[in-house]
Amino acid sequence: MKETPHEIKIHNNLKAGVISIDGFLGDDSRHYHEIIVEDRNELLKLNTTTEELADRMNYFTEISFEHYEGSVLIDDHYEVEYRSYRGKILCPFFHPGLFRKGEIFLYNKKNDIRICWTPLNIHMIREHCFLEGKGSKHRLEPKELYRSLFE
Ligand SMILES: [Zn+2]
Repeated sequence: MKETPHEIKIHNNLKAGVISIDGFLGDDSRHYHEIIVEDRNELLKLNTTTEELADRMNYFTEISFEHYEGSVLIDDHYEVEYRSYRGKILCPFFHPGLFRKGEIFLYNKKNDIRICWTPLNIHMIREHCFLEGKGSKHRLEPKELYRSLFE
Protein backbone atom coordinates (compact mmCIF):
# COMPACT_ATOMS: atom_id res chain seq x y z
CA MET A 1 0.00 0.00 0.00
CA LYS A 2 1.33 3.41 -0.93
CA GLU A 3 1.10 5.83 1.97
CA THR A 4 0.65 9.55 1.60
CA PRO A 5 3.17 11.77 3.44
CA HIS A 6 0.46 12.53 5.99
CA GLU A 7 -0.16 8.82 6.58
CA ILE A 8 3.55 8.19 7.01
CA LYS A 9 3.59 10.84 9.75
CA ILE A 10 0.60 9.23 11.48
CA HIS A 11 2.21 5.81 11.21
CA ASN A 12 5.35 7.19 12.82
CA ASN A 13 3.34 8.74 15.67
CA LEU A 14 1.89 5.33 16.45
CA LYS A 15 5.31 3.78 17.04
CA ALA A 16 6.77 3.35 20.50
CA GLY A 17 8.62 6.33 21.90
CA VAL A 18 7.14 9.01 19.64
CA ILE A 19 3.92 10.20 21.35
CA SER A 20 3.86 7.59 24.10
CA ILE A 21 6.58 5.38 25.49
CA ASP A 22 4.74 2.18 24.57
CA GLY A 23 3.26 3.34 21.29
CA PHE A 24 -0.06 2.14 19.92
CA LEU A 25 0.79 -0.76 17.63
CA GLY A 26 2.14 -3.39 20.01
CA ASP A 27 3.65 -6.27 18.06
CA ASP A 28 0.98 -6.05 15.37
CA SER A 29 2.58 -6.22 11.95
CA ARG A 30 -0.50 -4.94 10.12
CA HIS A 31 -0.72 -1.40 8.76
CA TYR A 32 -2.92 0.78 10.94
CA HIS A 33 -5.41 1.02 8.07
CA GLU A 34 -5.87 -2.75 8.15
CA ILE A 35 -6.27 -2.77 11.92
CA ILE A 36 -9.03 -0.17 11.56
CA VAL A 37 -10.79 -2.00 8.71
CA GLU A 38 -10.78 -5.33 10.54
CA ASP A 39 -12.03 -3.83 13.79
CA ARG A 40 -14.73 -1.93 11.93
CA ASN A 41 -15.95 -5.26 10.54
CA GLU A 42 -15.92 -6.76 14.03
CA LEU A 43 -18.07 -3.89 15.31
CA LEU A 44 -20.51 -4.44 12.45
CA LYS A 45 -20.83 -8.10 13.40
CA LEU A 46 -21.51 -7.06 16.99
CA ASN A 47 -24.15 -4.69 15.70
CA THR A 48 -22.59 -1.75 17.47
CA THR A 49 -20.94 1.51 16.44
CA THR A 50 -17.88 3.48 17.49
CA GLU A 51 -20.21 6.17 18.76
CA GLU A 52 -22.19 3.80 20.94
CA LEU A 53 -18.99 2.36 22.46
CA ALA A 54 -17.39 5.76 22.99
CA ASP A 55 -20.54 7.17 24.61
CA ARG A 56 -20.72 4.26 27.00
CA MET A 57 -17.01 4.48 27.88
CA ASN A 58 -17.43 8.19 28.43
CA TYR A 59 -20.36 7.58 30.74
CA PHE A 60 -18.30 5.32 33.02
CA THR A 61 -15.26 7.59 32.74
CA GLU A 62 -17.11 10.71 33.85
CA ILE A 63 -18.68 9.05 36.89
CA SER A 64 -15.43 7.42 38.02
CA PHE A 65 -13.51 10.67 37.43
CA GLU A 66 -15.82 12.48 39.84
CA HIS A 67 -15.34 9.75 42.40
CA TYR A 68 -11.95 10.48 43.90
CA GLU A 69 -11.15 7.51 46.07
CA GLY A 70 -10.99 3.95 44.89
CA SER A 71 -13.64 2.28 42.82
CA VAL A 72 -17.30 3.10 42.43
CA LEU A 73 -20.12 0.67 41.71
CA ILE A 74 -22.21 1.91 38.78
CA ASP A 75 -25.58 0.54 37.68
CA ASP A 76 -25.51 -2.46 39.96
CA HIS A 77 -22.64 -4.52 38.54
CA TYR A 78 -19.97 -2.29 36.97
CA GLU A 79 -17.08 -1.61 39.32
CA VAL A 80 -15.09 1.29 37.91
CA GLU A 81 -11.96 3.08 39.03
CA TYR A 82 -10.25 6.09 37.52
CA ARG A 83 -6.51 6.45 38.07
CA SER A 84 -5.16 9.78 36.98
CA TYR A 85 -1.59 10.58 36.02
CA ARG A 86 0.13 13.88 35.49
CA GLY A 87 0.22 15.34 32.04
CA LYS A 88 -1.66 15.27 28.79
CA ILE A 89 -1.24 13.42 25.53
CA LEU A 90 -1.80 14.28 21.88
CA CYS A 91 -3.91 12.40 19.38
CA PRO A 92 -1.47 10.55 17.06
CA PHE A 93 -3.77 11.36 14.11
CA PHE A 94 -2.91 15.06 14.44
CA HIS A 95 -6.14 16.31 15.91
CA PRO A 96 -5.80 19.55 17.83
CA GLY A 97 -6.27 19.28 21.56
CA LEU A 98 -4.83 17.33 24.43
CA PHE A 99 -6.21 14.38 26.31
CA ARG A 100 -5.99 13.73 30.04
CA LYS A 101 -3.61 10.99 31.03
CA GLY A 102 -5.28 8.36 33.11
CA GLU A 103 -6.58 4.83 33.09
CA ILE A 104 -10.10 3.65 33.72
CA PHE A 105 -10.46 0.14 35.09
CA LEU A 106 -13.82 -1.53 34.69
CA TYR A 107 -14.79 -4.83 36.23
CA ASN A 108 -18.06 -6.28 35.03
CA LYS A 109 -19.22 -8.40 37.94
CA LYS A 110 -21.91 -10.07 35.87
CA ASN A 111 -19.67 -11.66 33.24
CA ASP A 112 -16.34 -11.38 35.10
CA ILE A 113 -14.66 -9.33 32.34
CA ARG A 114 -12.04 -6.75 33.30
CA ILE A 115 -10.92 -4.07 30.89
CA CYS A 116 -8.92 -0.88 31.03
CA TRP A 117 -8.93 2.18 28.77
CA THR A 118 -7.63 5.73 28.60
CA PRO A 119 -9.37 9.00 27.66
CA LEU A 120 -7.37 8.87 24.42
CA ASN A 121 -8.80 5.40 23.67
CA ILE A 122 -12.28 6.90 23.76
CA HIS A 123 -11.30 9.63 21.31
CA MET A 124 -9.50 7.23 18.96
CA ILE A 125 -12.49 4.89 18.92
CA ARG A 126 -15.00 7.68 18.30
CA GLU A 127 -13.04 9.57 15.66
CA HIS A 128 -10.79 6.96 14.08
CA CYS A 129 -12.25 3.53 14.88
CA PHE A 130 -8.77 2.75 16.14
CA LEU A 131 -8.61 0.22 18.98
CA GLU A 132 -4.79 -0.07 18.77
CA GLY A 133 -2.65 -2.94 17.52
CA LYS A 134 -2.52 -6.40 19.02
CA GLY A 135 -0.12 -6.53 21.95
CA SER A 136 -0.36 -2.80 22.56
CA LYS A 137 -0.76 -1.83 26.21
CA HIS A 138 -4.22 -0.34 25.68
CA ARG A 139 -5.43 -2.57 22.85
CA LEU A 140 -9.17 -3.19 23.18
CA GLU A 141 -10.69 -6.31 21.63
CA PRO A 142 -14.06 -5.35 20.09
CA LYS A 143 -16.07 -8.26 21.44
CA GLU A 144 -14.60 -8.14 24.92
CA LEU A 145 -15.03 -4.37 25.04
CA TYR A 146 -18.63 -4.62 23.92
CA ARG A 147 -19.48 -7.35 26.41
CA SER A 148 -17.81 -5.57 29.30
CA LEU A 149 -19.71 -2.35 28.63
CA PHE A 150 -23.17 -3.61 27.77
CA GLU A 151 -23.83 -6.97 29.41
ZN1 LIG B 1 -7.86 12.20 16.76
